[in-house]
Amino acid sequence: MPSPHDGCLFCDIVRNGAYVAKTRGFVAINDINPQADVHVLIIPERHVDTFRDIGEFHAGETKRMLEFVAEVAQQVGLTDYRVVANVGPAAGQTIFHLHWHVLGQTPTREVHLPPMTAVTEL
Ligand code: AMP
Ligand code: ZN
Repeated sequence: MPSPHDGCLFCDIVRNGAYVAKTRGFVAINDINPQADVHVLIIPERHVDTFRDIGEFHAGETKRMLEFVAEVAQQVGLTDYRVVANVGPAAGQTIFHLHWHVLGQTPTREVHLPPMTAVTEL
């Protein structure tokens, strides 16, 4: 496993966290402050500050990371979802260890339709 970046929360979590899923080099965890029914974070074990530095990964690692994003989304029951990477503080990045947000609604969520309107025949 790559060496941890001093004081980095996600470096600690990839070593000691409670994972939703794990594969070689990458883990997935539940977001502590979910913004959707399902909100998981895909985190590479290798410390890279931000998506801007994506070039630090080898092509094969990048492919496996994105495949893992799709696999985890499927494992947690999502077919339709958003994949987000906040890049830089002005875009909302608060943890400077690259991660992907996967956000979606659970498929079992009830859809509330408005009541039928009675149609009066003339
Ligand atoms: P970002 O703002 O894009 O850097 O995303 C950081 C995310 O990490 C936020 O959605 C936080 O809710 C989440 N987060 C912060 N601390 C933890 C933690 N200890 N465990 C899980 N998720 C966390
Ligand atoms: Zn880190």
